[in-house]
Amino acid sequence: MNDSVTSLSSISSDSVSSESSTSVSDNFLTINENDLNEDILEKEIEKCNQMIRTTKECSQERMRLVRRLVELRFKLEMITEIKALENKNLPNETKVVFGHHLSFVFKPNWLENKFCDVCTKTIWKYMQQLYECSDCGYYCHIFCVEKIKRVCTAVVASEHSMILTITPSNGLLSQDYKCAECQSYIRIRNTKMSSEDNLSLEARLCDYDGKYYCPLHHWNNTALIPARVLCNWQFEKKCVSQASFQLLNYNYKSKMYNLEKHNPKLYTYLESLNQIKNIKNVLVKMKKYLVLCKVWNAQLKNVSSRCHELLYDSILYSMKDMVEIKSGLFLEDLQGVKDVCEKHIRYECEICKNQGYICELCQKDTIIFPFDEDAHSCVKCDNAYHYQCWKNRDFCPKCKRIKERSKLQEV
Ligand SMILES: [Zn+2]
Ligand SMILES: [Zn+2]
Ligand SMILES: [Zn+2]
Ligand SMILES: [Zn+2]
Ligand SMILES: [Zn+2]
Ligand SMILES: [Zn+2]
Repeated sequence: MNDSVTSLSSISSDSVSSESSTSVSDNFLTINENDLNEDILEKEIEKCNQMIRTTKECSQERMRLVRRLVELRFKLEMITEIKALENKNLPNETKVVFGHHLSFVFKPNWLENKFCDVCTKTIWKYMQQLYECSDCGYYCHIFCVEKIKRVCTAVVASEHSMILTITPSNGLLSQDYKCAECQSYIRIRNTKMSSEDNLSLEARLCDYDGKYYCPLHHWNNTALIPARVLCNWQFEKKCVSQASFQLLNYNYKSKMYNLEKHNPKLYTYLESLNQIKNIKNVLVKMKKYLVLCKVWNAQLKNVSSRCHELLYDSILYSMKDMVEIKSGLFLEDLQGVKDVCEKHIRYECEICKNQGYICELCQKDTIIFPFDEDAHSCVKCDNAYHYQCWKNRDFCPKCKRIKERSKLQEV
């Protein structure tokens, strides 16, 4: 008896101790075991059956063993199914439906169950195969593929620009009391609606597009709304329809928002945005050195991808950037990148160091760089001077030299 208990618990997760009797009874067979095969499981099932017969009816022990038996059978079914799938000729051609490029996938290693985007029911991670869109990540049951009605998010994202104004709802009447996606009748939920039947008619508002949807197309998922972030710097997540949810997630990392153009007021209210703008201006000046430096280019592969991303950042921001601007992470990272570049140019690299300037106006022998806070570059010849020196003298010695030289050549 003891023997069998040990052997049973040995099938279960290593993370759970099989020492104490309580942990044994809670010790469910986990699915991470890779070395189980049908033979072992069949033997264990038989053993478990025998043990059940030796226990008292309705006893705790019997209940535990019955639970274990169910698990073992489930695991056996799973292994049989996986085997059958491996041997079967699976549909491996890509299906194109409403712009989705759907391929057949079977991923028993998923950590959690997914929900079918068509019927909203669970796609069990162990038992079911599914179709997945390689462009937008839409999932559905094999048997739901013919019922897809939603256009691929990748197509929507490429054909439509994002809604950047906070969209007020026009009311259900403007939609003829129909779901904006499937046209089924919906109504505003009231206290009398409680049965599941009524739930299917519930109208749910999408904060992104201001339209109402049925529960099949609005799962009460929440997302950041670009318009709310851009207009009010408001980062509270709001309920959105499933189509909007997928679109917002799809575009989350796309750099597509020009903050300064869309809402210049943000720059008056947010000190961090001004700091970011200043550092970006400095980086533009530093890049003039870096792109021409052999040493920098040779070590470029050692530079982190984040550093690379920020160094070559555009003036556009993604939603992800804005979340990081809000949290302070963006500024911190950007400052880090500036420090790395500055260290290279000013101290580490002989090539870059030698391209610093001596201010010709005051002749002090400290080296200045165009990205220094107190430096000013002549817009015509790029020569750098101290800002104060430049302000007091209104001509550029280098430009003057160039002019004189060309005069001489003319003569
Ligand atoms: Zn798709
Ligand atoms: Zn389905
Ligand atoms: Zn619907
Ligand atoms: Zn260099
Ligand atoms: Zn000077
Ligand atoms: Zn000049």
